[in-house]
This record gives sequence, structure tokens and C-alpha cells, in this order.
Amino acid sequence: MSYRAEYIWMDGTQPTAKLRSKTKILADGAELPIWGFDGSSTNQAEGHASDCVLKPVFSCTDPIRGGDDVLVLCEVLNTDMTPHASNSRVALREVAEKFYAQEPIFGIEQEYTFFKNSRPLGFPESGFPPPQGHYYCGVGADEIFGREIVDQHLDNCLKAGLGVSGINAEVMPGQWEFQVGPLSPLEVADQLWVARWLLYRTAEDFGVSATLDPKPAKGDWNGAGAHTNFSTKAMRESYDAIIEACEALGRDDKPLRHIKNYGIGVESRLTGAHETAPWSEFSYGVSNRGASVRIPWQVEVDRKGYIEDRRPNANVDPYVVTRLIIDTCCTALEKADLV
Ligand code: ADP
Ligand code: MN
Ligand code: MN
Ligand code: MN
Repeated sequence: MSYRAEYIWMDGTQPTAKLRSKTKILADGAELPIWGFDGSSTNQAEGHASDCVLKPVFSCTDPIRGGDDVLVLCEVLNTDMTPHASNSRVALREVAEKFYAQEPIFGIEQEYTFFKNSRPLGFPESGFPPPQGHYYCGVGADEIFGREIVDQHLDNCLKAGLGVSGINAEVMPGQWEFQVGPLSPLEVADQLWVARWLLYRTAEDFGVSATLDPKPAKGDWNGAGAHTNFSTKAMRESYDAIIEACEALGRDDKPLRHIKNYGIGVESRLTGAHETAPWSEFSYGVSNRGASVRIPWQVEVDRKGYIEDRRPNANVDPYVVTRLIIDTCCTALEKADLV
């Protein structure tokens, strides 16, 4: 007997990488080998030297094919085994190792929007649905569009063993969210990429596409983000560490450095309206969904816990956002002797 391994990787599409995958048939019991692909078809190589290498880094049950079949997330390497320019995982690996002792963990809230016939699912063929206000966590056919897909996606994530912690309908019709974590940096980012692949793949069977476009409908409609919740061991034990992490994110060139890497089109989403803070002004506050970084009310009550960076776009690269937050906050916590 043999089994099927679906090799998944991020391509070289600019400014936002797309997911690609292809199937390898392996002999029963065979380990996952290094594999390759034609990088000239994925914006990762020129035609005259087109080979790129796939190195398996995370695998799980394939919930769609079932049986012994697996999903295999890969890093992309050059043929000399150095990291490919599109490989953003390798930099996270280094930073996560450096600050391993601070035990950083993340929970990422992935918002997304279903599309059918070039319109958000639930939008009429022309014109607009009733204004937003009752769709968030709603129920009923007048408010909810795509629940059968969402439930199937959740089921698939759980069968795959991914650390998904919840789902909810969002503020705009056809817009939804799932949360991955809390998990270690590499775990949360790897599993978010696989959960995204499963989202596209699940919706495909319903003739619907899913997009991480940060502002899928212009006008008075919420954008789509990827709120990134973060803590270290010290933050889970002391409020001073919580405050220092927030302060660090607002210090020097950090606000701009983070914003620039929080997903293309971040300025179109972080306008100051629709539960966002303007991208050009850093702020933090307790319970404040109009701040860049929110300290949940329970965290203020408990004097310990985690913080929520509300700025990352839905289309952010989780390898990048987790790396930047660890780098900024863990460096500052170390300096302030809060580790
Ligand atoms: P919101 O109220 O912002 O919609 P959610 O419930 O959607 O919040 O998401 C909160 C996220 O925070 C979850 O993904 C959860 O796993 C994560 N989280 C909870 N505790 C911690 C922690 N100590 N460190 C990091 N992330 C955490
Ligand atoms: Mn949420
Ligand atoms: Mn949300
Ligand atoms: Mn949130």
C-alpha cells in the first residue's frame, strides 16, 4: 500500500505570497523526503534555473483525504540548501531560538471573507445588503452566509490536529474568523498556514473562494485583520511586564517598522474607524478596541496575562508578525530585567 502526501508551500508572489501544493505518492511507512518544484511557475526562479527545493517542516493528518494521507508544510530552499529569498520561516526560527527562555506564545485571530461571483458571500448581485451591525456572531439566514463551509473547515482543522481555539461570524456579511493558539511561535505560524490552506481547499468544494484581502468591500464595511495575541512567561506573571511590552511596541522606530510588515494595504484598513486605530499613531489601552494594542480587561483585573496587537492585516505573514513582536518585546523585557 502507499499513502498520499500533500506538500504545501508559500510561493514568491508579491506583495503577498500565495499557497501552492502538489501530491507525492509514498510507499507505506516511508518517511517524508525532500522534494522539488518548478520555481519559474511560482515567481521563485527563472526558467533557465528553475528548480526549488521543498523541505518538510510540519505534517499532520489530511482530514479531506483521510486514511494515512498527510498534509506537509514545507520551507522553500535553493538547490544548494540555503533558504530561498521567499522563505520567511527561517528568520523566525532564529529569533524564536534566541528568546526561547522567555517562553513566548501567540494566539492569532484569522479573519477572512468568502467570495462568490466576485461579490462577498451574502451581498446581492447589485447594490448592498442592510448596513452592518447585526451580522457579528449572528444567527439566521438573513444574517449568516457560509456557515456550512465554516463548520466543515473547523471540522477539518480539528481532524488535522491543529490548535484551533474557536470561530465566529464577523461584522460584515460573509466575513468570518478562526483563532489558532495559544502556541509557540513556529507552531502557531505553521499551523495558521495549514489552516489557511484548509480554508481555501474546503471552500473550493462549495464553489466559493476565501480571501484575506484586508479591505474586501470599500465603504462603511469592516476590514479583515489578524489580531495577534502575545505573552511571555513574565507577562503571564506580572503586570509590569505587560506594560513594558506595550511601551516597547510604541518606542523609537518600532511602530513604523511593525506597520510596514503587517500585511500589504494596512493603511486602507487602519483608518481610525471600524474598531481600528489610525496606522500612523501608536496607542495602547485597557479594553480599547480603538487602540493599536489592547490589554484585555481581565488582564488588568488579574494583573497578568497577555496583550493583543490589533494592527496586523488578515493577509499578514505569521512568520513575520511573530518574529517582529518577539524581537521588539523580548529584547525590551530582557533589558528591563523583566524575564
Ligand atoms: P477577541 O475578544 O479579541 O475577539 P478571541 O477570543 O477571538 O479574542 O482571541 C483571543 C486569542 O488570544 C485566542 O486565540 C487565544 O488563544 C489567545 N490567548 C489567550 N491567552 C493567551 C496568552 N496568555 N498568550 C497569548 N495568546 C493568548
Ligand atoms: Mn476574535
Ligand atoms: Mn474579529
Ligand atoms: Mn481580537
